[in-house]
Amino acid sequence: LNVSEFLREHIRTVADWPSAGVQFRDITPLLQNPQVFRVLIDAFVHHYMDPTLRPDVVAGLDARGFIIGAVVAYELNVGFVPIRKKGKLPFTTVQETYELEYGSATVELHTDAVTRGQRVLLIDDLIATGGTMIAGVKLLERLGAVVTECAVIVDLPELGGSARLKALGKPLLTLVDFE
Ligand code: 5GP
Repeated sequence: LNVSEFLREHIRTVADWPSAGVQFRDITPLLQNPQVFRVLIDAFVHHYMDPTLRPDVVAGLDARGFIIGAVVAYELNVGFVPIRKKGKLPFTTVQETYELEYGSATVELHTDAVTRGQRVLLIDDLIATGGTMIAGVKLLERLGAVVTECAVIVDLPELGGSARLKALGKPLLTLVDFE
């Protein structure tokens, strides 16, 4: 069984969503089937259980990064911290704004979410241009944490995000590529 091929078969492509010309990669079928969900989570957990890669904490990006990241953190027996879209976190935060194709987006992290020197695994469902993931890296590193690894289910390499992360020296685990 090739895990990447198996997972690919359970990702649904929705044409022209959320706007014309976009091929949206929908990961909800991966979560819906209990056997597939387990293969997905175990792919991350088995990788990060390695003592040299095991993080101190997992950070997840709003919102699908929460679903995957929280379960991976639980299985690794480490804590989980959410990086949220602007305006959702109640305590004091650090903020990072990044450019989108049209406009900009801001993400936030509680100032006490991580401590200096903590080794963080940053998780999201998908990397496209890399703007979201890189904003997350900046927030965590601004608080003195060390982002040792980033991980996603899906990489869209043509959009350049995985190359941008590599240029920053951040290892990225990807399970499925879509050209
Ligand atoms: P980026 O910031 O890398 O351009 O876009 C990645 C972010 O947008 C991620 O948080 C991801 O959840 C969301 N995203 C963009 N395109 C898709 C897509 O086709 N499928 C899914 N599931 N998420 C997407």
